[in-house]
Amino acid sequence: MQHTATLAAGDTLHPDALFDGVDLRRLAERIPTPFHAYSANAIRARIAGLQDALHGLDATLCYAIKANSNVAILQLMAEAGVGADIVSSGELWRALHAGIPAERIVFSGVGKTAGEIAEALAAGIQRFNLESADELDMLQTLAEELGTTARAAVRINPDVDAQTHAKISTGKAENKFGVSIDEARRWFAGSARFPNVRLDGLHVHIGSQILSVEPFRLALARVAAFWRELENAGHAIASIDVGGGLGVRYREGQAPIAPADYGQAIRDALAGFRGRILLEPGRYLVAEAGVLLTRVVRVKQGERRRFLVLDAAMNDLLRPSLYDAWHDIVALVGEPRPRHRYDVVGPVCETGDTFAVDRELPELRAGDLVLIRTTGAYGAAMASTYNSRPLAAEVLLDSGRHAIVRRRQSFEEMVAGEQPARDWETA
Ligand SMILES: *Cc1c(COP(=O)(O)O)cnc(C)c1O
Repeated sequence: MQHTATLAAGDTLHPDALFDGVDLRRLAERIPTPFHAYSANAIRARIAGLQDALHGLDATLCYAIKANSNVAILQLMAEAGVGADIVSSGELWRALHAGIPAERIVFSGVGKTAGEIAEALAAGIQRFNLESADELDMLQTLAEELGTTARAAVRINPDVDAQTHAKISTGKAENKFGVSIDEARRWFAGSARFPNVRLDGLHVHIGSQILSVEPFRLALARVAAFWRELENAGHAIASIDVGGGLGVRYREGQAPIAPADYGQAIRDALAGFRGRILLEPGRYLVAEAGVLLTRVVRVKQGERRRFLVLDAAMNDLLRPSLYDAWHDIVALVGEPRPRHRYDVVGPVCETGDTFAVDRELPELRAGDLVLIRTTGAYGAAMASTYNSRPLAAEVLLDSGRHAIVRRRQSFEEMVAGEQPARDWETA
């Protein structure tokens, strides 16, 4: 049976509207709020949409695990043949643990340590996306020690404005990511200096939450020109990794780039390329598949503003505090109610613990259920236990059924590893 995996637009949910076949109000009667819920079918639909758009190309999706690294989500990716883009050995461990094969794992990030590189080499990952000459030297040294050859791509900083929030823009010359084409050119020219690194890939990732295909076209054009130049100079390029960054709908009027348009941009830019194309979508695959369910603790009338205090907080969903990000908020109340303007806040002792300012919503009372939309990416993944609030539960929904994929952390789990200062030593 096919269940709708998307929620209708608007700030109320129709009484019998379901998310992946599950009645969220009934679910919230069984599972204490706050908790994250993810639609498996919404994720599968996003994967299939991208795979369709890339049909006929030698293309592999490497899901950027940092967006949502829950093991159940990773298993879903593995089942769909999706690989992983990792940025730490913790993510390497998660990916392998969830059944993603090493040959579908790529490793990005400016701060890979020697230990992390050695672990990834030992695991036999598909390739390293290198971000500095120092990292290239380190990879050569470690691969030589292990008696192996590492496959690597150079991450190009194409100096393109992704037209997104400054904190999630990564492809400008002043950002810490990647190297200039000039520097990459020197790497290829000097490749004899690192015999244990097979440098035969290009990588680019210009930022996140990109809603127009133009920045992608611009970045890909620069990478493609460089690929042609390298081929002409005798450097065979086996893979081009086009990164992630596809944006999603956080509010009315926003729409993701159609997969077909994105696929076309890749086909246009890389026409004639015979190697493998890698993609690293994160947010696009999971963001809209997730919602955060929370209840109203109380309504507080201040001097100037009316505060809707929820039982979820910035520790459960950091994006509004971190990036001033907008998330649609839906009141899960059946009957029509008068409307008011609220500042929607959490209980954490920070003014920044604010989900929305001056947001119009139906009148709400203590105990009412509220849903925050588009929280499947960079939601639970960025959670903390700040204010000693245990990590929230995560629930996977699939065609009318639900399964807890992370139980709510207990207080004991929250302090696991902490201990009184008993065993004093001197270094
Ligand atoms: C974060 C990241 C991604 C995923 O970005 P999204 O915007 O979530 O698609 C892909 N590649 C790299 C190198 C990243 O750092």
